[in-house]
Amino acid sequence: MLETQSLTPPDAELLASTFDQLDLGLVWVDEQAVIHHANERFLEWSVAASSLHECFEGLSQADWQARLRQRDKLPGLLYLGLHMRSGGLRPFELQFNLHAPAGQRLIAVQLSSMDQRREREAIDALQRDVLEAVALGRPLAVVMDLLCRRVEALATDVICSVLSVDEQGRLHPIAAPSLPAVFSAALDGLSIGPKTGSCGTAAWTGKSVEVQDIPNDPLWEDYRPLAAAQGLVACWSTPILLSDERVGATFALYYRVKRPVAPFHRQMVEACAQLCQVALKHDEHKRQIERLAYFDGVTGLPNRSLLSDRALHALQLAARQGAPVAILLLDLDRFKTVNDSLGHAVGDEVLREVAQRFAICLRDSDTLARIGGDEFVALLQDCSAADAMHVGEKLLRSLQLPLNLPSTAGLMLSASIGISTYPDNGSNLDVLLKNADIAMYEAKAAGRNCARFFLHAMNQALDERLHLEADLRLALSGQRLSLHYQPKVKLSDGRLVGVEALLRWRDPVRGQVPPDRFIPVAEECGLVNALDAWVLETACAQLAQWQCQGLAIGHIAVNVSPLRFYQDDVAAHVGMLLVKHGLAPEQLTLEITERLLLDDDVRPREQMRQLDEMGVRLSVDDFGTGYSSLSYLKRLPLSELKLDKSFVRDLETDADDRALASAVIGIGRSLGLSVVAEGVETAAQQALLIEAGCEIAQGYWFARPMAVADLEAWLLRQAARA
Ligand code: C2E
Ligand code: CA
Ligand code: CA
Repeated sequence: MLETQSLTPPDAELLASTFDQLDLGLVWVDEQAVIHHANERFLEWSVAASSLHECFEGLSQADWQARLRQRDKLPGLLYLGLHMRSGGLRPFELQFNLHAPAGQRLIAVQLSSMDQRREREAIDALQRDVLEAVALGRPLAVVMDLLCRRVEALATDVICSVLSVDEQGRLHPIAAPSLPAVFSAALDGLSIGPKTGSCGTAAWTGKSVEVQDIPNDPLWEDYRPLAAAQGLVACWSTPILLSDERVGATFALYYRVKRPVAPFHRQMVEACAQLCQVALKHDEHKRQIERLAYFDGVTGLPNRSLLSDRALHALQLAARQGAPVAILLLDLDRFKTVNDSLGHAVGDEVLREVAQRFAICLRDSDTLARIGGDEFVALLQDCSAADAMHVGEKLLRSLQLPLNLPSTAGLMLSASIGISTYPDNGSNLDVLLKNADIAMYEAKAAGRNCARFFLHAMNQALDERLHLEADLRLALSGQRLSLHYQPKVKLSDGRLVGVEALLRWRDPVRGQVPPDRFIPVAEECGLVNALDAWVLETACAQLAQWQCQGLAIGHIAVNVSPLRFYQDDVAAHVGMLLVKHGLAPEQLTLEITERLLLDDDVRPREQMRQLDEMGVRLSVDDFGTGYSSLSYLKRLPLSELKLDKSFVRDLETDADDRALASAVIGIGRSLGLSVVAEGVETAAQQALLIEAGCEIAQGYWFARPMAVADLEAWLLRQAARA
């Protein structure tokens, strides 16, 4: 082993001759990049020049200064093209000896030619860095920009660009850091085609396009002045394929001199095409995930998440600018029927068609979202309540033409729209949506196919409804309900023929709540079936009890909500109760309303038929208040008509009511139905009804609805009087 301390440094001559023989270029420059010394090899390669700027393509004064400033941080490596004495450019790797000894002003620069191994290494490094950027989830434009810059650093005589190709076949620059902005702007939106420069043609044919002489190549015919203005003379473009074999982008190298492509460039482009493909697919995938997360799969409209984002921004902006925002909640009327009768596939088509029609009515700055089965929301920026109503009407009109879908011939849709506005009806999306929902229900209640504003009164009414519902549930489970019974009597002699069971609810806080108030709420919230079941059971048990006591009550009448008849077990349930309590079917009358008779649905009809077959009597309650069609009276198995009390009230004063009442009584009798007059309060009413031929009545004049004990006392008094 050699003892290092015994060696002496070589003299200057030895050093100089060694430097000259190396296969390395060596130059010594000052901070202005002026060359002070160079070795033989460098002088062999380079054109005679006095500064690095003249030797190397693209090494600007600014680049050089930046490199000097960062001399502590950066490894002094740079790839640059050297203007060769033999002509053309050749890529070199430059290494700077930045840590010059103190007092030494000169910087040593070492040039090694890029042999194939180095070229490969340089490309590998580029690939690594770009893939890392992809993996880190950097935006596509940032990744492509990095790619272009790295390519331009390796091949200093090229200008690099990446363009995307949209689904309509139009080009859009993604990255082109060294192309003048005017050039990129001119390319944006250009349609691809068989003769549209290098990139447009490559995208069109799906094949690489190498134009060595732009001024004379027919592919560039239409774009020559554009290229000429930027001094671009050659362009080689490579198409990048997406997963579905569509060209998603082009990767291009431009040259400022007329020239064929260098072999090193070919290697680089090959690598870059792959990188671009990876980056594009990654981006495509990312966007797909975003689509799933933010868009509705059926209509392609934003979903609730995206609506929330947009609303957040819109409301923040509105708060700053003091501008109003409107929310329209659209619910398709009876869409469930479409789905049930035509199937979900057709339902989806209908939704898509509807979405398109709605979308046309809105501005670009508005957001249309689908947030549920048949619920859409339009978020309208800078839109007053009056404007929102106009938009709402426009949206409704858009549904007035029949859908042009083959599977839904002639189907007409309508919608109900609730409108709420910022800042009046709420300061965030949740509250605005809740209030628009209340307004939407108001629109449904008003007959559908219309738009309604949210009013605070509606909100209060809803709150009250919700409280009532909660209390009613407690009442049902906590035995706060009872039945009162009102006698039905013979008009001629006041003798009892039966009783009607009427529901009573006494709430500890509210006191007595009238059924007209809570039955509609129970119908809305689905509680009515449980209520009716309780009433039916209690009434049957009571009648059986009276029977045991030997009291002659006649029949008992129970009111049944029309909703109950849409289930298929009414008759079965009633049959079971009759057996359980040992009652004859004729002892039970079910009072139903006219609106049930008007429905063509087969389900209620079937239940009525079964009940009639069993021998249970059916009575039409509140007769005369619904629709005047009498034809159903003939067709349906009915036993009784109850003339509504609104006709009875003014019998004495109103000749029309008198005429109507006697007509109804006449019809009823001619059809073999017994007619019961409701709400008889005076002796005069009684007399007029007898005169008109009515036989049975109910009303305060005879007896009020009474609790069990009161009714029993009443019966005793009646018996005593007789
Ligand atoms: P409805 O079936 O028409 O019942 C008759 C209503 O008229 C009862 O009101 C009764 O108290 C009242 N009424 C009786 N005689 C007179 C009179 O001379 N003058 C006046 N002005 N009114 C009289 P109520 O008990 O308040 O019940 C109201 C409605 O609530 C009932 O009308 C019925 O539609 C419904 N309802 C009551 N109980 C039940 C039930 O158990 N189930 C269902 N589904 N509905 C019920
Ligand atoms: Ca009734
Ligand atoms: Ca009635």
